[in-house]
Amino acid sequence: MTVQGIIDRENRFMARNYHPLPVVLARGEGVWVWDTDGNKYLDFLSAYSAVSAGHSNPRILNAMMKQAQTLDVPSRAFHTEILGQFVEQLCVVTGMDKALPMNTGAEAVETAIKAARRWGYRVKGIAKDKAQIIVAEHNFHGRTTTIVGFSSEPLYRDGFGPFPDGFDIIPYGDADALEAAITPDTCAFLVEPIQGEAGIIVPPGGFLKRAQEICKKNDVLFILDEIQTGMARTGKDFCYQHEIDKPDGLTLGKALGGGVYPVSAFLARKDVMDVFEPGSHGSTFGGNPIAASIGLEALAIMKDEKLSERSHELGEILKSKLNALQSPLIKEVRGKGLLIGMEIDPAHARARTVCEKLKERGLLCKETHETTVRFAPPLIITRDEIDWAVEQVAETLTELSRQP
Ligand SMILES: *Cc1c(COP(=O)(O)O)cnc(C)c1O
Repeated sequence: MTVQGIIDRENRFMARNYHPLPVVLARGEGVWVWDTDGNKYLDFLSAYSAVSAGHSNPRILNAMMKQAQTLDVPSRAFHTEILGQFVEQLCVVTGMDKALPMNTGAEAVETAIKAARRWGYRVKGIAKDKAQIIVAEHNFHGRTTTIVGFSSEPLYRDGFGPFPDGFDIIPYGDADALEAAITPDTCAFLVEPIQGEAGIIVPPGGFLKRAQEICKKNDVLFILDEIQTGMARTGKDFCYQHEIDKPDGLTLGKALGGGVYPVSAFLARKDVMDVFEPGSHGSTFGGNPIAASIGLEALAIMKDEKLSERSHELGEILKSKLNALQSPLIKEVRGKGLLIGMEIDPAHARARTVCEKLKERGLLCKETHETTVRFAPPLIITRDEIDWAVEQVAETLTELSRQP
């Protein structure tokens, strides 16, 4: 079938809830993917940070296949040894007390919301159905109705109401606003340490530390959504490690699934997680042996391959090389580790156009909103591959700057 035929079939039979670049991928290995015509591309998005260990990572595939052939999905009605190993390791690397495994990121966030509210009622003593959770403007925590209900993005919300109450929105990165928004009914502050979908927005230095102090003083849970920023993406194993020891609650997902399987988790302090008793929450596939063995291997790869160090060093190089381009099209380059946003001056070009041109040169990226190009390559990328990517960006921007 032709490329256009494949795209037309998707458009004919599938919901149009995404706007993909016009490329049809057929194969992937490491940092590279190939289309149906055999053209090769450097994957500079890595499935929104889910493919940090590279496509078809042999260690991940081996863990997955071995487990699938041994014991696949028995459900949580029974114990398995691998699940205990996985949650223990999750707690060791994050410093948290307990974990609750789920599948998608949104489910981990829903779990965090349930835990925070119950903790609010049962531990903090908030009156029934009064618990409030503070969130940040331009947040992205997933796509369930509850979660989009506290989004500030009209596109995510429009037509999906009515939404549940119980959320207060403050400007991102504003600790004073957090302090002012807290009431005796506040059970938690839920926030991304860097806002990914919003356009790689880095809060002012010291924000996480101050936010945590404010939460502590007011008996409010400090919950970080590290579904995108975790697993070495920002130059530390977890982004909070740039500023604090650990939060009270933490959501992980994306790269925890090794690029091949949905694996997520909510992690928390013991007194928070202990609000769940049998029957109060669950997931048929959450924590199944395949997920557990993949998650365990993803954590091991993060350590063995020193992905945080790589992410930090290569991220600094990528940022400084992009800045050195001094292109009139670039308004700003921002981010930490290998989570980088390149802000395009809309007077010159749309971010989408930049991504389309980069695709023609063999570099796959995706815009987020109108003006930001997101760079989030697999963390196993090499220095030479980064250099090659920057050359493609340089040539693309030069080309676009010549156009009226
Ligand atoms: C991707 C993402 C989610 C949602 O994860 P899904 O697996 O798509 O449900 C939640 N929070 C953040 C910060 C994310 O980047």
